[in-house]
Amino acid sequence: MSVKEKGVNVQVLLRCRPFSDDELRNNAPQVVSCNEYQREVSVSQNIAGKHIDRVFVFDKVFGPNAQQKDLYEQAVVPIVNEVLEGFNCTIFAYGQTGTGKTYTMEGECKRSKGGLNGELPPEAGVIPRAVKQIFDTLESQNAEYSVKVTFLELYNEEITDLLAPEDLSRVAQEDKQKKQLPLMEDGKGGVLVRGLEEEIVTSATTHEGEELIKCGKLNLVDLAGSENISRSGAREGRAREAGEINKSLLTLGRVISALVEHLGHVPYRDSKLTRLLRDSLGGRTKTCIIATVSPAVHCLEETLSTLDYAHRAK
Ligand code: ADP
Ligand code: MG
Repeated sequence: MSVKEKGVNVQVLLRCRPFSDDELRNNAPQVVSCNEYQREVSVSQNIAGKHIDRVFVFDKVFGPNAQQKDLYEQAVVPIVNEVLEGFNCTIFAYGQTGTGKTYTMEGECKRSKGGLNGELPPEAGVIPRAVKQIFDTLESQNAEYSVKVTFLELYNEEITDLLAPEDLSRVAQEDKQKKQLPLMEDGKGGVLVRGLEEEIVTSATTHEGEELIKCGKLNLVDLAGSENISRSGAREGRAREAGEINKSLLTLGRVISALVEHLGHVPYRDSKLTRLLRDSLGGRTKTCIIATVSPAVHCLEETLSTLDYAHRAK
């Protein structure tokens, strides 16, 4: 039975970034190698007589030479098509800090500021490419449409609206305390964040009547650094932060395992992250996890823990 027939569609990809300039300067030994054809990632290293040699297989593997466009075309285009057909989908970037989550999701515009002729620069990541695909498709279909964007941060289990206009006087008075927004059930199996700004990016009036209306949602998630998960007994001050991040990442892992393994109980309610994404995880949705790792030896421990976490989600 295919994954689709089982009603669960979780795709797990692995991306290994190139060596950084620092790592190259220091001749950092390479411990990760990728075989894109076999969809395999191997980790090998000899430390003090202890030999580590492990191989992981993923749905897709992107090595250090993979371009933003390659990853987008091979992994994200089908998901955005699904959203345009009226389904809810989620794409996560998961990995240690510094391994390329933000590079993968947002990208970089170091040299080229914006693209020429409406083209995106080669370093553009998943988010700008998805926005372009959505508008290109909608415009070519000659259908009426409306697109809404929300942008929020979930930190220490508190939600802040990144699109809300900042009230500078209040920010000063309240010592930069951010306004927290409550999460509520919407009565239709989903949740809503009360008071969250919705920016209408462009719109056309939709006629009342018999027309077929499709409504899809795409969640693009740049997760907290996965090193928090192994550091739950953190130092003072950071203890709560690590604990809450840990809770979200662990719950996300459990929710995905429960969906993949068809367990009766899916613990969506155990963290705000999974409550927020409830209507976009499981059922007729597509989920894609992009796990990111560094090729270098100094990240070995975190790399193994990322590979284990991501592999469990398969
Ligand atoms: P994270 O968000 O996981 O903490 P970043 O996305 O900020 O990591 O990446 C760390 C650094 O590595 C950045 O300077 C970024 O440009 C670079 N980088 C990450 N992935 C790649 C990649 N695939 N190709 C080129 N540079 C990358
Ligand atoms: Mg980042």
